[in-house]
Amino acid sequence: MAEKLVAVKGMNDIFPPAVPRKEKLPDSVLWQWFESVVRSVLGRYGYQNVLMPIVEPTALFVRGLGEVTDIVEKEMYSFTDSMNGDRLTLRPEATAGIVRAVIEHNALYNGPLRVWTMGPMFRHERPQKGRYRQFHQLDVEALGFAGPDVDAEMILMARALWRELGLVEGTHVRLELNSLGQPRERIAHRDALVAYFEGHAAQLDEDSARRLRTNPLRILDSKNPAMQALVEGAPKLIDFLGEASRAHFDAVCGALDAVGLAYRVNPRLVRGMDYYNLTVFEWVTDQLGSQGTVCGGGRYDGLIEQLGGKPAPAVGFGLGIERLLLLIQELGLPVPNAAPNAYAVVPAGTALGPVIATLETLRAAGVRVLLHASGSDGPGSMKSQFKKADASGASFALVFGPDELAQGMVTVKALRDGSGAQQARPLADAVEWAGSLQSQA
Ligand code: ATP
Ligand code: MG
Repeated sequence: MAEKLVAVKGMNDIFPPAVPRKEKLPDSVLWQWFESVVRSVLGRYGYQNVLMPIVEPTALFVRGLGEVTDIVEKEMYSFTDSMNGDRLTLRPEATAGIVRAVIEHNALYNGPLRVWTMGPMFRHERPQKGRYRQFHQLDVEALGFAGPDVDAEMILMARALWRELGLVEGTHVRLELNSLGQPRERIAHRDALVAYFEGHAAQLDEDSARRLRTNPLRILDSKNPAMQALVEGAPKLIDFLGEASRAHFDAVCGALDAVGLAYRVNPRLVRGMDYYNLTVFEWVTDQLGSQGTVCGGGRYDGLIEQLGGKPAPAVGFGLGIERLLLLIQELGLPVPNAAPNAYAVVPAGTALGPVIATLETLRAAGVRVLLHASGSDGPGSMKSQFKKADASGASFALVFGPDELAQGMVTVKALRDGSGAQQARPLADAVEWAGSLQSQA
């Protein structure tokens, strides 16, 4: 046998639930359900879909995310295009690409924009549960709005997703909130931070010691448990906010209070990219170990200008689809049934013409029908076909027996309600009885 090829480490194949997997990963039924909920919920808030390239110039992320970030320092899949020598990167996140596209197409010319996109992102991290090298995000952005109202809208839109998916906020996912203020306020805080960490230089780990010189705010983002006590005692940015920043933050909190959404103000919440200002937030869970953030975002009023566009405010979030679906799977939340309505049992030797014609009519009427397709030695025994019909989860078997077919009929047999009830139905009127196949779970 030829040598087997396998997927790149940290990059996963997604199958329907019937395919047994080595690793616990969300299946494609869950995935599709999530996508349909996203389309529906985001549509209700007036957000529209955009699709951007997966490959961008490396400079976009270096300039957009900041040079001293985990992503740019060590997680990017960057390469040289062998055709022309261009430096390219597989996108590690979606915001920079959307901003690049918005600038390139002058997309804010006619006013602000509410958009979302969904797709793979790439980061060279150590693969583990909830952390992969190719993972998927739902990314939502509102560009051109300066006020706190749209920040609240973003957060509530995520809550609407949780609710629609059966997740309970406060129990399964919790909201954490912070304000990063404006650059001016961050400088004042930064000076205080540097003084604090310089006073405790001996306790800094290698990464943090380096960051003290390059980007001290990032020290607060440290995942090293040994650093936590030191980080805990550091000066808080929220104490350095001016009046306008404070008012913005209070307005966001006020909007959330008004709809009874509980949150925790977490002064340590800094997020992984440099472009954020004012509101930042994360939706976190305790159920996924250390990969507990399912959704994170905030305001990035300076990014559009930083990437060469006309200055415009913006806010957005990224949601980790694998983490969210793992959470739903782990909680055992009910997922809509994706089983077929009916399974067509076709004895050996049956003329295919009327069978296929009937199934096509039923499908055109919206019925989900699975055909028992035959192997090289035919369709197999009736017993084995009924076994497959059962395993498919279908509510009904359509039995195309020779006697029924001779009379232009098919037998519809109930598989799930315990009755085993059978009814002969005329092939010619399939449109009439199609609906009855969908009525039962
Ligand atoms: P973390 O702190 O867990 O590394 P992050 O702050 O780097 O997350 P963001 O860049 O804010 O993550 O991305 C938004 C969301 O995308 C995260 O909250 C998470 O749900 C998901 N995510 C990020 N990196 C990965 C990854 N390597 N594998 C799977 N999901 C990821
Ligand atoms: Mg990360």
